Amino acid sequence: MSSIRVTTPQAAYDVTIAPGLLRTLYPRLRKLNAGRPAKTFVITSPEIWALWHDRFLASFPADAQPSVLFLPRGERHKRLAAVESLANQLVLAGADRDSILLAFGGGVIGDVTGFLAAIYMRGIRYVGLPTTILAQVDSSLGGKTGVNLAAGKNLIGSFHHPLAVYSDIDTLATLPAAELRAGLQEAVKSAIIYDAKLFLYLEQNASSILGESSHKSDSGRIEHRPSKPGVASSKALEKVITASVRVKADVVSKDEKESGLRMILNFGHTIGHAIEAATHYRKLLHGEAVAWGSIAALHVSLNRGRITHEDFVRMANLILRYGPIPAFRADPAKLVALTSGDKKKRSGRRAFVLTTGIGATEIAYDVTDAELLTATTAMLEDMKQA
Ligand code: NAD
Repeated sequence: MSSIRVTTPQAAYDVTIAPGLLRTLYPRLRKLNAGRPAKTFVITSPEIWALWHDRFLASFPADAQPSVLFLPRGERHKRLAAVESLANQLVLAGADRDSILLAFGGGVIGDVTGFLAAIYMRGIRYVGLPTTILAQVDSSLGGKTGVNLAAGKNLIGSFHHPLAVYSDIDTLATLPAAELRAGLQEAVKSAIIYDAKLFLYLEQNASSILGESSHKSDSGRIEHRPSKPGVASSKALEKVITASVRVKADVVSKDEKESGLRMILNFGHTIGHAIEAATHYRKLLHGEAVAWGSIAALHVSLNRGRITHEDFVRMANLILRYGPIPAFRADPAKLVALTSGDKKKRSGRRAFVLTTGIGATEIAYDVTDAELLTATTAMLEDMKQA
């Protein structure tokens, strides 16, 4: 079991990572809330609840069962209407200022629940119980909560940190294989930007992290096959998730509100967001779009002479190793045009995250559209070879 402390000016809390955490949830929540009786409300999706409710409820005594509120799965439910509906349900179920929300699901459940907790009765407490890799390594910590508008993702929100995060590795066993791989791209990103040791571990242990069995084909090529779709080795995964959480915890502890360092977490996101928009958020998972975006960012870094060709190859190969990342078709010029939204967010300046070597980054404010065009064209070429 690992426990990592997040400390920011607004809040301090622990992220606990281990298998079997759900089975001991009730005593953990009691400890967290010592001496203050509180009603608990689980916010989850029907699918996740169907898979995991037995384990979830195993430690709750009969007279302290939590109420369960459902949010249908999918990014399209991450909207204000869902927050209003859940808030109404909370009122009807008797939630008060001392109540605690339990966000049990992926990043969508976490973002909606965190935002609901930020504004319900001007702010109540919530605990993160993330069930996807992306949520365990990224979205459950750091305090960013919110919902989408028709005009764009995450445009309404608030900084509101959880009281604690419990990441039960066991829950990843039911995650679809593509979600698992896309989530691991966040770990690859953390390694590239901040943690050379994690990079090496991801390079050397890909098969066990992905739960694959390797075997030699007739042609002598090493082939990797998933031993069972979606099921990965929990020891190796725990190690990767813990190291990635350390990266994020360290970064947000140093820069909670993204005025500087926290921006490095956006590595691969400038082009990644453009790819998501160009493919109408349907063809690729977020982690997959960021993976291609990261390859484009590697090209910018290489073309600027910030990384060696050898490091470029190692980093690009690691991203591809945690694939397959679905291919898509797009006009590179259109992708570049779609990055202009990024500029608007920061008073006309685009902050572009470059790597300067494995585990190191810098933020550049002078990356031109012409550089992005060259890089996205090269990335689309790489896609044909992959
Ligand atoms: P998600 O929440 O949509 O979950 C992906 C799918 O997996 C869903 O269909 C879900 O029902 C299913 N699922 C979840 N856990 C499962 C399990 N254990 N077994 C079987 N199925 C399971 O997607 P996500 O990738 O977890 O999160 C994406 C969201 O996170 C986006 O909205 C993104 O904007 C947000 N995000 C937020 C932050 C932040 O700092 N707040 C950071 C990164 C991403």
